[in-house]
Amino acid sequence: MKKVLLLTTGGTIAARESGNGLAPDINSEDIIALLPELKHSFQIDTKDILNLDSSNIQPEEWQYIAQVVAEQLPFYDGVIITHGTDTMAYTASALSFMLQNLKKPVVLTGAQIPIEQMFTDAKRNLQTAFAAVDLGIPKVMIAFFDKIINGCRAVKVRTLGFNAFESISASYIGEVYADGVHWNENYFINQKKKGEFSLKDQLCTDVFLLKLIPGTNPEIFDMLLHMKYRGIVIEAFGAGGTHFERRNLLPKLKRLVDHGITVVARSQCLYEKSDFSLYEVGQKLLDCGVIPGRDMTTEAIVTKLMWALGQTEDKDEIRKIFDTNYVDEVTF
Ligand code: ASP
Repeated sequence: MKKVLLLTTGGTIAARESGNGLAPDINSEDIIALLPELKHSFQIDTKDILNLDSSNIQPEEWQYIAQVVAEQLPFYDGVIITHGTDTMAYTASALSFMLQNLKKPVVLTGAQIPIEQMFTDAKRNLQTAFAAVDLGIPKVMIAFFDKIINGCRAVKVRTLGFNAFESISASYIGEVYADGVHWNENYFINQKKKGEFSLKDQLCTDVFLLKLIPGTNPEIFDMLLHMKYRGIVIEAFGAGGTHFERRNLLPKLKRLVDHGITVVARSQCLYEKSDFSLYEVGQKLLDCGVIPGRDMTTEAIVTKLMWALGQTEDKDEIRKIFDTNYVDEVTF
C-alpha cells in the first residue's frame, strides 16, 4: 500500500461560510474522513501547514511548503497538497523549480466548491490527486477535473467552471477514464536523466510583471528601475512585439538591461510559443538583451525568474538558467 502525506494550506476546498464570505476552516483529518474509500488503497497521514486563501499565499509560503515537502518526502511515496485554486499555478511552478530533481510525485489539488457543500468537486479532485501519486511520476503536478497537469504548465483559466485549469502548450500527464488513468509515458522517460534531489528554496521577490497595452508609457521602465526591481517579465503583443513608433519603449528597456536587470518576455496570447525573431517589432526587443520566454506560461516565467535571481546575481548564469529546460516547462 502506498504511503501518502496530505498537507493542507487552505483554499475553497477547506472553506466554510465565515460571515464575511468563504474562508478556509476545515482541517486535513476532516477532509480525509469525507473520503473513506481512499483508506482501502493508501496509508494516509495528514498535516495542516497553512490555513490561507491562496490570494494570501506568497513566495514566503512557497518556501515553507517546499521545506515541509523536502523534509517529509523521504518517509512517503508522494505528497498531496490541498491549496486554493487562485494562485495554485504559481505555487506549483515555484515548487517545480525549488524541488530540484524530484524523485517522487508532489500533487496539488483544490476545488471550486467547498468539500462539505453539495455539488463539490473536491472529492473527485482529491481522488485524481491520489491517482496521480499512484502513477509515481516524479513531478510537481496539479490534479483537477479528471486531469493531471504538469504543474509548471498549468494556468487557472476559469473562475467558476469545474475545468478551472488548462495545460498550456503541453499535453496532460494523465486523464482519468472509467478504465483508469490514461497517462503520457513521455513524462516518465524524461525523468531518467536527473541528478540528486535537492531543495533550492532561495528566491528573489523583486520581480515585476508588466502587460503592455498599445500606448504604454515608456517612463514605466524608469519607475521600475527606481524601485530596484531585479527582474521584469513583459507580456508583449502577438508572436512577440512592442511599439517603437512615437512612444518608443526600446531605449528605456535597453537602459534597464544595461543596469543589470533581467527582462524576460512572452506573448500575451495564452497558447503556443512566442517568437521574437519573427517581426521587426520583436527583434528589436531581443537586440535590447531581452530573454525570450518561448512557450512558458507567465506563472512559470515569473517563478523561474524569482528562482534564478535567488540562485545567482551573474547575468550569464541567469540567461543559462533560461536556456535550460528543468521540468518540461519550456520547449526549445
Ligand atoms: N479564493 C480561493 C483560493 O484561491 C479560491 C479557490 O480555492 O478556488 O483560496
